[in-house]
Amino acid sequence: MRILSLLVLFFITVFSQAQNQFTRVEPAFWWVGFNNVEVEVLFYHKELNLSSYQPKIQSESVMLKRVTRTENPRYVFLTLAIAHGAKPGMVPILFTDGKKSLSYAYELRARSKDKNRIQGFNSSDVLYLIMPDRFANGDTKNDSLSGFYQGVHRDQPFGRHGGDIKGISDHLDFIKDLGVTAIWLNPILENNQKRESYHGYAITDLYKVDQRFGSNEEYLALINKGHSMGLKMIQDMVINHIGIEHWLMRDLPERDWIHQFPKFTRSNYRSEAVSDPYSAASDVKLMSDGWFDNTMPDVNQTNSLFAKYLIQNSIWWIEYAGIDGIRMDTYPYPDKMFMANWAQQIMNEYPAFNIVGEVLVNLKPMVSYWQQGANNKDSYQSNLPSVIDFPLTNAINVGLSENGSWDGGLSRLYTVLTQDFIYPNPNNNVTFVDNHDMSRYYHNMGRDLNKFKMGLVFLLTTRGIPQLYYGTELLMDGDYSIHPTVRRDVPGGWKEDNVNSFIPSGRTKDQNEAYDFIKKLLDWRKTKSVIHVGKLTHFIPNDNVYVYFRTNKQNETVMVVLNGNNKSMNIDTARFDEILKGKSKAKNALTGEVITNINTISIAPWGSLVLELD
Ligand code: CA
Repeated sequence: MRILSLLVLFFITVFSQAQNQFTRVEPAFWWVGFNNVEVEVLFYHKELNLSSYQPKIQSESVMLKRVTRTENPRYVFLTLAIAHGAKPGMVPILFTDGKKSLSYAYELRARSKDKNRIQGFNSSDVLYLIMPDRFANGDTKNDSLSGFYQGVHRDQPFGRHGGDIKGISDHLDFIKDLGVTAIWLNPILENNQKRESYHGYAITDLYKVDQRFGSNEEYLALINKGHSMGLKMIQDMVINHIGIEHWLMRDLPERDWIHQFPKFTRSNYRSEAVSDPYSAASDVKLMSDGWFDNTMPDVNQTNSLFAKYLIQNSIWWIEYAGIDGIRMDTYPYPDKMFMANWAQQIMNEYPAFNIVGEVLVNLKPMVSYWQQGANNKDSYQSNLPSVIDFPLTNAINVGLSENGSWDGGLSRLYTVLTQDFIYPNPNNNVTFVDNHDMSRYYHNMGRDLNKFKMGLVFLLTTRGIPQLYYGTELLMDGDYSIHPTVRRDVPGGWKEDNVNSFIPSGRTKDQNEAYDFIKKLLDWRKTKSVIHVGKLTHFIPNDNVYVYFRTNKQNETVMVVLNGNNKSMNIDTARFDEILKGKSKAKNALTGEVITNINTISIAPWGSLVLELD
């Protein structure tokens, strides 16, 4: 009894003194009530030999299950097992080496009780992708901060321009008004890199928003404000590589946390090697282990400590920020068994969640390989619900830029969908006309407004979860061969701008036409479950005219007609009888015009019709 009292007294004394004596503790806090009751906590002290310290925990509901020491003695990892039913609170942890002691009060928080907080995303949504550095500068005080390599140089295409979370928050009305329902931000975590830090894909602190974008608290406030307006948030994550300036990279816990080579070795970027039944082992190894860039070390996800660190980090952001989904970068590049485990652990904790993986190839089987439920020859199961549908994007951009033929022109839209049998769940694919990694869609359409509208009509009425890239609605142009040109600032997002595209009077006639067209289509789509989940039936294109239908059991029918010709066409609709079944009237969903006889439909050169049938 006496010893116990002394121990309690000792804990009280130690914990009433200064708290965090460590250089880093990650995750800095955790939650009670997860299905997985374990959490692995990293302790790092830049000057102490932590490996010689014995940790002890004073708690009835938290057990110190494992202590893992690494080749770098400045680290120690504690695996805590949290009892089911444990209460939130502080867990005192004491480290002693016989002479000295260190303490840490580890916080266990209560999980959010709001069941609707984390919603996932699906085909009823339309995503709006924003590059945070390039959207709007709401706070010039964070433009250039001490302790950060890069400040703002707006005249430099590869430099930072000063856009931030405040800028996005200030324009949520604009985003909401456009009619999208979810926001995907390119990565917002700290990228304190020496060059090209604006894009966000070289993370230097996995637990912290880049202060030049704002604080963690500002990010939370943005999400809460968005949620209150009916806008979801999708967080862009990167697990394949890490910024070379990340603090972990400056003092690695173990040499094998990253893939090491005698000299800088790049990935071969041939993601097909990973799913190739005939691949050479050395090609797969170089693909997975080679570095993405010399400023982005390649993470070794087969190191069990780092693997756990990364999985917990993703779960931490979901629970901490209440994000609705994740977009995972460079999906085929990390260790694929690790990725399956990562996705499974997230989905186990958040069944309503959605994760979309980037597989940047124009080959359907290579994309479908990564979607959960794929019938893969090697039996690989990814646990990944959604994939980014690059083949569909390619069909739109190429098909609308060429003449019609057996397999060209609008036949590409048809053909790309005929191969959907290969996807376990094509309606959960994220579809788009462009994003930050390709030429702007308007550029690809040769700045032709009719073609521009046609691709968007297709995107927003065919299957899938559509995503728009910021500025498409403003006809922003850019050629990816000079890639910052597709990542330009929105005029009006900076107070020194002399044009403000966020308001109608600041836009050109064509810009307003594009904006109004997209808004009309998005507002209409929002309420049309027949577009979200209705059956898709399409007909083989004739004379470069593509016709398809969305139907449901409530007898709603939407007919879409796309004319890829420089002349008007009159379409005899007898061929579509199996769907039309005696329907005779239609209403144009975008103009409200009523067509009383649909036996023949006239359509303008490069016209797109969205018809609701009676
Ligand atoms: Ca700023």
